[in-house]
Amino acid sequence: RFIALEGGEGAGKSTQARLLADALRARGLEVVTTREPGGTPGAEAIRALLLHGEGEGWNPRAEALLFAAARSDHVEKLIRPALTRGAWIVCDRFLDSSRAYQGGGGGLSDEDIRELHRIGSTGLLPDLTILLEVSPIVAAERVSRRDPEGTDRIGSRDAAYHARVAAAFVRYADEEPGRFVRINGDGRLEETQARVFEAIGRLLPD
Ligand code: C5P
Repeated sequence: RFIALEGGEGAGKSTQARLLADALRARGLEVVTTREPGGTPGAEAIRALLLHGEGEGWNPRAEALLFAAARSDHVEKLIRPALTRGAWIVCDRFLDSSRAYQGGGGGLSDEDIRELHRIGSTGLLPDLTILLEVSPIVAAERVSRRDPEGTDRIGSRDAAYHARVAAAFVRYADEEPGRFVRINGDGRLEETQARVFEAIGRLLPD
């Protein structure tokens, strides 16, 4: 089974990914936790390029190609082999981040992003995509606490960009209610965790 967690920065994806993986392991399941951009040495090298490799910022097309390349390596070397042997994948961001950031934020068409994904990763989609939604104030507060210097995120993006990203995530989630679950992540970590676990319940073996 393949589960992706999506949302803006500070939504709590990494924390919830870890908690979900722990809960699945407690049921005796093999779980691989991973993240985008990254997850393999090659994709982590591309992550470094994306985050620190271009002082002025990559243009949205170059950015989309780099994300697609990183994902291709990640899917081929880590995600697909794990799924083939029956492990669960819990992935912090996947294709829908590209659709929301490079598409919604950067202005690329959704068709182009999906085409890059088809070429790079044969169009692989998660079984379930959990969209964690938090208010901009909560997100900003979490981000400044965790990463005050801004070294682990792509800078040079304004509030309007992030608002377009958030709106795009919601639009894509509502377009595909069978694949997405929207979960509010403003509250306590335990509350969010319980909602996440409830959402994946239908994928669990009996
Ligand atoms: O999720 P994480 O904080 O590790 O992401 C690192 C950076 O990459 C963040 O600034 C995030 O907004 C950005 N990103 C992006 N497009 C994606 C995935 C992540 O701009 N498709």
